Amino acid sequence: MSNVTISVRFRPLNSSERRGYDDAICFQALDAKSFWFTDEKEDDVLFCFDKVFYPDCGQADVYEFLAMPIIGDAMNGINGTIITYGQTGAGKTYSMEGPNIFDCDEHDKGLLQRVVDGLLESLKSSTDMAKCTLKLSMVEIYMDKIRDLFDLSKDNLQIKQGKNQEMYISGATEISISNALEAMRSLSGIANRAVGETQMNLASSRSHCLYIFLVQRESVTDGRMRTGKIVLVDLAGSEKVEKTGAGGRILDEAKKINKSLSSLGNVINALTTGKTSHIPYRDSKLTRILRDALGGNSRTALLCCCSPSPSNASESLSTLRFGTRAKLIKTPLIAIASEQKDNIEKTTPNNSHDRVLENLR
Ligand code: ADP
Ligand code: MG
Repeated sequence: MSNVTISVRFRPLNSSERRGYDDAICFQALDAKSFWFTDEKEDDVLFCFDKVFYPDCGQADVYEFLAMPIIGDAMNGINGTIITYGQTGAGKTYSMEGPNIFDCDEHDKGLLQRVVDGLLESLKSSTDMAKCTLKLSMVEIYMDKIRDLFDLSKDNLQIKQGKNQEMYISGATEISISNALEAMRSLSGIANRAVGETQMNLASSRSHCLYIFLVQRESVTDGRMRTGKIVLVDLAGSEKVEKTGAGGRILDEAKKINKSLSSLGNVINALTTGKTSHIPYRDSKLTRILRDALGGNSRTALLCCCSPSPSNASESLSTLRFGTRAKLIKTPLIAIASEQKDNIEKTTPNNSHDRVLENLR
């Protein structure tokens, strides 16, 4: 098994898709991992992934499959990344934040709110730990510049490499979180600021948004500090530029998005060869930040979001092909396990601990 999990989520048809195409859909489910995809222009294609979330799947299903294992690992000092990919309107932000980041009922909560709850819950129930902290940073990559969403005056943050080779964003504001309500307040604080910024609203589907959680726990028994990082990445829309009929600034934005998404694709392609040298991480800020995630010392879950409508079939097909390529990434788990084995908690074995040990054998 690879440390990269690829899943697909088809959102429900929306009202205009229903009107235009008589409730037709572009896929035929086979099972929880595979489906036939129908595109008028091509023969039907069979796709297989680690998991397929059909339109009737809920937010809790997505959280359980994608985020729960990553939370368990983060508590043991193993990093995790969850990335949503797909054309604008395919359901990336819905999967990440729910229909409304500040105000959604339990059922609609996205990965972000559920990860906050899950991390706080895990921290509360860990017995051996003296000091636990959970910190959150939020940044946006827009036109290949990194902007701090907690402090908009920091609009060109730089990426640095730490002493353990880990990538971090230097100077990004970190908010400490000790309860879920506080977490939601910090998020609504930033969004209130953002609403005033037309630019930001406009940019929402043309920027990559990253939520970075840092979990630190100090053990009572041995005094050791364990740090785990979880990064949630809501990517900009992957649609082709021509389709948007764009010009001027919009075209410039689209080119930058395409460049960073294609460098992500190039990194993925290079990783599928199984070689660890010459991976073009440096080609974009996005791939530099995701270097830890894709290169082997992290568990990564990619969620490919698709519209179920035949009207979006060609974009969905390109999203599915992106996911298929990513499935071939070869980063052996041994790399994770050996790099992180000092971080693994010995006193409270759990599934992820067992899994890492298994991989060391
Ligand atoms: P993206 O971020 O990929 O551009 P959104 O997440 O904003 O797309 O989704 C577009 C619209 O579809 C939003 O109104 C969103 O609430 C709705 N939507 C997306 N996925 C789902 C889903 N699984 N269930 C219900 N509504 C959804
Ligand atoms: Mg979005």
